[in-house]
Amino acid sequence: MAEHSNPGRTVYDTIVVGAGIQGSFTAYHLAKNGKKTLLLEQFLLPHSRGSSHGQTRIIRKAYVEDFYTKMMAECYQLWAQLEQESNTELCRQTGLLLISAEQDPDFQATWKTLGANQVPREYLAPDQFRKRFPGVTLKPGEAAFNDHSGGVLYADKALKAVQDCFRRMGGTIRDGEKVTEIRPGEEVMVKTPSLVYRAKSLVITAGPWASKVLRPLGLKLPLQTLGINVCYWKEKVPGAYGVTHKFPCFIVINVNGSKHSVYGLPSNEYPGLIKICCHSGNSVDPDVRDVPLQSPTLHDIQLLRDFVRTYFPGLEPEPAIVERCMYTNTPDENFILDRHPHFKNIVLGAGFSGHGFKLSPVVGKLLCELSMGKEPSYSMEPFRVARFPNKLQASL
Ligand SMILES: Cc1cc2nc3c(=O)[nH]c(=O)nc-3n(C[C@H](O)[C@H](O)[C@H](O)COP(=O)(O)OP(=O)(O)OC[C@H]3O[C@@H](n4cnc5c(N)ncnc54)[C@H](O)[C@@H]3O)c2cc1C
Repeated sequence: MAEHSNPGRTVYDTIVVGAGIQGSFTAYHLAKNGKKTLLLEQFLLPHSRGSSHGQTRIIRKAYVEDFYTKMMAECYQLWAQLEQESNTELCRQTGLLLISAEQDPDFQATWKTLGANQVPREYLAPDQFRKRFPGVTLKPGEAAFNDHSGGVLYADKALKAVQDCFRRMGGTIRDGEKVTEIRPGEEVMVKTPSLVYRAKSLVITAGPWASKVLRPLGLKLPLQTLGINVCYWKEKVPGAYGVTHKFPCFIVINVNGSKHSVYGLPSNEYPGLIKICCHSGNSVDPDVRDVPLQSPTLHDIQLLRDFVRTYFPGLEPEPAIVERCMYTNTPDENFILDRHPHFKNIVLGAGFSGHGFKLSPVVGKLLCELSMGKEPSYSMEPFRVARFPNKLQASL
């Protein structure tokens, strides 16, 4: 009898909780390593209640931190491999403009990181910028550079591709099954309203629900869940900021010297509309998040209206579409990729802080390596649970 026809009686090598992009890539790598893997998802797939849905994400090597830029080198290879395996175009290179006050330390550091890693980059002085991108108005003192590796990732297609490949390798996905209880042990027991499952190891990639899943396991992590308004803006001349006109992705860091950053992607998925969003949001519980749009908490949309008026004179300064998504932030905005401090066969991936999609092929590989007891391919230092004080509840 095929193992997936009797999931309640099978002892899996690994169960992965949460079929967002991180859990799905973890399951994919486990299956590639010949592991009998079950991927559990609380909602029916596909769904739009977590962090991995939507048409597009930015992919780039431009990071302040050298370790992310290095991980991205392998991510590009793994994305290309998934494109081949799924016979689907998942990435489109457009370049990524990083825009900021010229002396901004993050701007300078990112330029240096790209250089140190031999990533093709191009500095654009204000005059050059004006000629190249007449539809964008920089403020006095601002400068830009292009990370030529930057581009668009087709997120919904990517999630489907990785899940399809996982299934083709013999993996089992059970959706519409919320994990309600985890009992640690040499064999971990995982309960949903339908069945009780058992596995030698467990990976928890529950996105915005990570705190809720981890708290009963004695782990209290400083994760903040944010509701993000994903705004699309109408082009006055359709296509003027479009992929076909070779308009790039962009990030404006520390807008007006604040800690706010704004990013955008060329018009593509909805013709005539360009996506521009704040890299910040409003604190919400993932289960109680559906506030009406008129809410006074929509500070981010006001900030974006002002931003669009200033930088993008070729756009209507009122969002045409607002979709919803969620970030799960750590205090330092670095991910959490580690073993549970007490239960070594329980691994967690959380806190992707609004920049985890592009890195998911390597995140999945690392979580797979941790759960298989292998030496991780990268230094795990930036991602450890131990960097947070008071992470264990008194009961443990
Ligand atoms: C608006 C927006 C823009 C972004 N832009 C970018 C970008 O340009 N570039 C980039 O790299 N990243 C970007 N990101 C970040 C990226 O999308 C996230 O880091 C990534 O999707 C996180 O994936 P995840 O698998 O951790 O979470 P999720 O996708 O939320 O997956 C977690 C899954 O776990 C399931 N789950 C939770 N609890 C349980 C349970 N008890 N039982 C069963 N299942 C459970 C959930 O239902 C969910 O499906 C963006 C995010 C947003 C919201």
